[in-house]
Amino acid sequence: MPIRLYNSLTRRLDELRPLEPGKVTMYHCGPTVYSSPHIGNFRSFLFADVLRRFVEDQGYQVTQVMNVTDVGHLTNDDIESGEDKMEAASKKTGRTAWEIAKQYEDEFHECQRLLHVRMPHHMPRATDFIAQMGVIIDDLLAKGVAYQVDNGDVYFEIAKFPDYGKLSGKVIDELEDGARVAVNEKKKDPRDFALWKTDHKHQMQWDAPFRSGLRGFPGWHIECSAMSSHYLGHQIDIHTGGEDNMFPHHECEIAQSEAHTHKQFVSIWMHARHLLVDNKKMSKSLGNFFTVQDVLKKGYTGLELRFALVRGHYRQQLNFTLKGLDEARAAIARVQQCRQRLVRIRLGHESAGAADLTAATAQADAKFTATMQEDLNVSEALGVVFEFASECNRAQPTASSCQQALRFFARVEDVLACFGQEPMAVEDGAPAELQALLQQRQDAKKKKDWVAADAVRDQIARAGWKIVDTPQGARLEKV
Ligand SMILES: [Zn+2]
Repeated sequence: MPIRLYNSLTRRLDELRPLEPGKVTMYHCGPTVYSSPHIGNFRSFLFADVLRRFVEDQGYQVTQVMNVTDVGHLTNDDIESGEDKMEAASKKTGRTAWEIAKQYEDEFHECQRLLHVRMPHHMPRATDFIAQMGVIIDDLLAKGVAYQVDNGDVYFEIAKFPDYGKLSGKVIDELEDGARVAVNEKKKDPRDFALWKTDHKHQMQWDAPFRSGLRGFPGWHIECSAMSSHYLGHQIDIHTGGEDNMFPHHECEIAQSEAHTHKQFVSIWMHARHLLVDNKKMSKSLGNFFTVQDVLKKGYTGLELRFALVRGHYRQQLNFTLKGLDEARAAIARVQQCRQRLVRIRLGHESAGAADLTAATAQADAKFTATMQEDLNVSEALGVVFEFASECNRAQPTASSCQQALRFFARVEDVLACFGQEPMAVEDGAPAELQALLQQRQDAKKKKDWVAADAVRDQIARAGWKIVDTPQGARLEKV
């Protein structure tokens, strides 16, 4: 069965047919690094992560690019007004835009790590791609689809690109009244969008690559066209973003890229729905605004947060609550306890039975694949996993069945990464907190954090237990 994905451009499920057989290129609109990443941002980034993981699971070689927007994203996205978000944050804090970008880019990478994201192959910064943006702007000016106004600003002329609106279906009449009021009089058409802006007060400035002596900074949209073509070529298989990126951002990316190359920019456009918190749009004034760190400070783990953010279908609204995090914790524990028992039976720490789980495992595996192939239906795929865990719990399986079942759980973990590593076998009677410590040591060792691993070992020793490392994994023994 092929992978079918909902394509916002064709408004139907399209089969994934890579431009180059066996290889899939993906581009994701990444973070704007002017503040701490919030959990709503991560809903769409984790969706992109699961997409990549599943496409890899299906045997494709994926190249994944996610940009870092450190210049050009204005405080009002829909219209060509407002202040650059980096500059606004700089004014507020008294620090330079560069310092702010660096701080939040680092924080973003830390959050990716905490949320078990498989790192994209490339995460370029917009500020490192000014020259490449200049090449496209220069070409659009030469082709007459962009124009420069008195002060040096360059705009893309929508009227010269009849396909504008093909992704979002939006036309000028649907623009909000506010957008009409705030129309920049220099523009030929209110829909025209900035490719290059001049502002002598702007901290981040470059010589315009297309006109000597002119200083300025790029518009937001052009960065994605420049960076995706640099790494992935003029045509890419999948482009994702949050639903708010569809218009105007993705519409503008299509206009620039296709006017520049005369080729279809993206085969499949995918958009993740917004995250609601307590059934409302997240906002600081409502008190329902959470950064990733806010959630971790409440005592939840990155894994629990990841589970809570990936568990729904990406095209359905997902409501996030603290209760949902508790449910995530319970769901993870349920699966891990099941795996723990299977490990113990496999190792002979617990007696095996005669039940053969081969057919059940094959069925769960096939169902998991089928639900994921059908537009990445994570919520149904999780249902398959829980059902299979219950089946395992009810059975008294053979040791080799346990091995097969564990292989399925390992595959689920490779794709969804929301349950954790395979638990280690523990002796009967080892307290739960020591089992958790043993898991911590394994995680530390995996990260090659030997200091942390040794500290955990010492803590376990003080409690009167020792760790026995075996080829099948580590286990605890009473001293
Ligand atoms: Zn973008």
